[in-house]
Amino acid sequence: MTTLEILTIPDPRLKRKSIEINSFDDQLKKTVADMYETLYATGNGIGLAAPQVGILKRIVVIDLKVDGNSSPITFINPKIVRFSENKSVNEEGCLSIPDYYSEIERPQEVDVEWYDEEGKKSNKTLNGLLSICIQHEIDHLNGILFIDYLSKLKRKLAIEKVKKNQLKHNK
Ligand code: ZN
Repeated sequence: MTTLEILTIPDPRLKRKSIEINSFDDQLKKTVADMYETLYATGNGIGLAAPQVGILKRIVVIDLKVDGNSSPITFINPKIVRFSENKSVNEEGCLSIPDYYSEIERPQEVDVEWYDEEGKKSNKTLNGLLSICIQHEIDHLNGILFIDYLSKLKRKLAIEKVKKNQLKHNK
C-alpha cells in the first residue's frame, strides 16, 4: 500500500468533476487500499474522496471510528437519491483545507445508493455524522468544496490561511 499526497487548495484538480467507475478490478481495489492508508496516515481524517489525491474517479472512503473501533465504508459511484427537508448545522473541516473549520448547513438525512469495491450495490438512509460526511465527500466528486458554501469574503480568508500555513511549513 502507498500513502498518497493529499492536494490542498487552490489546486485546480479539486475543482474538477470525477468520472464513474465501470470496472471493479484489481486497480480499483489497490486505489481503495491506498486511499485508506492515506486517510489513516492523517491521524484525524474521517473521509477521503479520490480527487483529493489527484485521482478524478468517483471513489470515497469513510471511517468514522465509531466508539474508537475502525468502521470503514467504501463508496463507489455514490449517489444521493433523497435529501431530507430537515437541515442541520455542523462544523466541517477538510484535509484539502488544513486547519480551517466552519459551520455548514446541510440536509440532516440522505438516502444514498452506492457500490462496494466488489461491485455489490447498497441503498441506505444515512444520518448523523455519516450523512454530513458523505454529502461533503460526494461534493468533492463534483468539484465542490465546503468553503464554496461560504461568503466570498470568508472563502478568501480560508484560502489565504491555507497559503500562509503552507509557506510556514515550507520554510
Ligand atoms: Zn473534504
